[in-house]
Amino acid sequence: MNAPLAMLYLISVGVLFMAALQAAMVARSTPYVRACWVFSAICLTFCCYQFCVVLQYQAVDESGAIAAHRWVNLFSLLITPLTLYLVAALDNKRRSLSAAHITCGLVAVVIVDNFVSPLGYRFAELQGVSQTTLPWGESLNIFSGPPAVVCRLMRLLTLGVLIYSLVFSVRISNLAGQLSSRLIWTAITLMFITCGLTWVSDSGLLKLPYMAGFGFMFLAGALPLLIRNDARNRKAEALRINSALEQAVKKHTLANQRFEHVLHNDPLTDLPNRAGAVSRLYGLLEHNLLNQTRLAVLMFDLDRLGVINGMRGHKAGDQLLIEVAERLQLAFRDSDLIARLDGGSFMVGASGLTEQYGVALIYDKLVEALEPPFEVADRILKITLNTGISVFPDDGQTVEDILAAAELALHDAKSSGPGHIRIFDPSLKENLQQHIDFEGALKEALEKEQFFLCYQPQVASEDGRTVCLEALIRWQHPVYGLVMPDKFIPLAESTGIITAIGAWVIDSACQQLARWHAMGFNDLKVAVNLSAQQLLVKDLEETVSNALGRACLSGRDLELEITESVLMQDPERSIERLGALRKLGVRLSIDDFGTGYSSLGYLRVLPVHAFKLDRSFVRDIGKSVKDLEICATAIGLAKNLGLEIVAEGVETKAQMQQLRELGCHLLQGYLFARPLAVEAVQPYLLASPQIGTALLKPAQALPDLMN
Ligand code: C2E
Ligand code: MG
Ligand code: MG
Repeated sequence: MNAPLAMLYLISVGVLFMAALQAAMVARSTPYVRACWVFSAICLTFCCYQFCVVLQYQAVDESGAIAAHRWVNLFSLLITPLTLYLVAALDNKRRSLSAAHITCGLVAVVIVDNFVSPLGYRFAELQGVSQTTLPWGESLNIFSGPPAVVCRLMRLLTLGVLIYSLVFSVRISNLAGQLSSRLIWTAITLMFITCGLTWVSDSGLLKLPYMAGFGFMFLAGALPLLIRNDARNRKAEALRINSALEQAVKKHTLANQRFEHVLHNDPLTDLPNRAGAVSRLYGLLEHNLLNQTRLAVLMFDLDRLGVINGMRGHKAGDQLLIEVAERLQLAFRDSDLIARLDGGSFMVGASGLTEQYGVALIYDKLVEALEPPFEVADRILKITLNTGISVFPDDGQTVEDILAAAELALHDAKSSGPGHIRIFDPSLKENLQQHIDFEGALKEALEKEQFFLCYQPQVASEDGRTVCLEALIRWQHPVYGLVMPDKFIPLAESTGIITAIGAWVIDSACQQLARWHAMGFNDLKVAVNLSAQQLLVKDLEETVSNALGRACLSGRDLELEITESVLMQDPERSIERLGALRKLGVRLSIDDFGTGYSSLGYLRVLPVHAFKLDRSFVRDIGKSVKDLEICATAIGLAKNLGLEIVAEGVETKAQMQQLRELGCHLLQGYLFARPLAVEAVQPYLLASPQIGTALLKPAQALPDLMN
């Protein structure tokens, strides 16, 4: 057939049909579902349009050509609202959709007009229904003539829609890829040109075939390219998002793990902390329940960690804690739980205990691990522990109960002083309540003026004159009665109220000494006991000098007694603190001498004035050769160092005699006087030999005691 143009149209019909199919298929796998369906509809419409154009051009008579022309009109009319629907589908804006609906309504009216009017909606009349013969001999039915009013309006509408699409394309050109926007622009230009040419052809200026279908075909053909480009872009974007997400998830997981670790572990030792211990205990309890074994929870406190921190600094304390943690990890199995609860408080959860492998064995392991001395900040330190033990399932069925039981046992162990162990017993709960009440009462005692001081004389061994009075605290409580210092000083130390109590003792003793001085006992001194914590407190010097100042006393009127074991916990720091006190002029003595394992090296350099020989040595001085030797050595040592020596706990004349022979300077004990109430001191002083007189008449000193 000699009709290449018609063939071209038919090919375009095929191409457009394929494009419609492709757009419909793509609709499922793209986020632009509606746009694809509309695009598919546009392709199909153009496909029909092209086909009807062929029918019009190839019609054998005029009526056939006009009938086909009406269908050409129909499909060309449909393109206008469909274009707007496409924009609306891409734009996702209400006003685009509304514009599409309105256009659709208008076009519907024009379509009716198209089929009602004899020539279709385009022409008011036909100028020439001419068979246009193309250069290669193909003849076509091309119509031209003045446009009908409806057609003019329709052209305006079409122009408006094209401009609207143009504006939209400008808007999205930033978002679309480079390739996509280039294709879209080319397609729009082609549409403008082909529509323009259609109108030129309709006007009869040029006899041209309708080319809008070919103009659109470019866009239809470019669709696969657009889709591939879009898919590639989206794939790249998805990959980027995926890897960003993966990174974020990885970071989040790491941060979570770190957060969990921080929440459940102690930063210093890296052992589980209290929260970590609790969560591990749940698993351990379950494991022991299944295996019908027992779990021992040992909770223990390092005594004197506070003292080490205060004396050697927190670095030393930290170093000790780290070494304790390391030793525990070495001593116990990996499956056992080792945790640092807080401060110097640790916990061991030993699982799988049987009758043979029991609690005692675990405790021995603990002691064995921590017994050897620690080297901390270039010093050798020994630590003691207070330990509380509870056992699952004997002492509780839940983690909370087992922990509470161990804690109770520990609390009870602590109340007995350093180095104690307690295994949980239900009666502990009752004791605890009593302990809490006692502690509460102690806290109020100072404010309620329930403390008072007794004074025990220290007499010169050669003549029995009273040289010094040791202030010894007592607590008179309405319910507990008279409470001795051994019962409440350790508690006052552990709760920290010892500082206030100690300051009160120093002040009261100074005030009382001033009164005795005023009574004429001018050379009398007073001795006050200091606890470890008092020695640590920086303002001790200030407390002492204020007390002396208020009582108008000088430093040498006051003697401070510090227990040997306290001094030996950190001799270097003790030397430093004692040096500061010595500057105030006060006398210093080492209390309970012989019990603190002092090294000779330190004794030489401790800036003290006197040793107070512990009463345990004095007690058996007559019976035990060893104790006699100790006393003799201590006295000899003191003499060599140029220090005074005071013997405590002298109860018998024989003891007194022996101590005198050994050359002990001062004696203190029930033989001379028990701790005296303040009112009893004056009569005692008046009855006992006085300073000066005794020196003149040594033979008369201590007359009744010597015989
Ligand atoms: P200490 O400083 O070694 O005091 C001497 C203790 O030995 C006193 O007991 C005293 O009553 C007792 N004692 C004296 N002579 C004899 C004797 O011949 N035989 C026997 N068996 N005991 C004798 P006390 O008053 O119960 O004091 C006990 C400890 O309490 C004191 O030991 C001291 O370390 C401490 N303490 C007493 N008052 C205070 C105080 O105000 N502050 C501080 N921090 N501790 C104090
Ligand atoms: Mg004392
Ligand atoms: Mg003592």
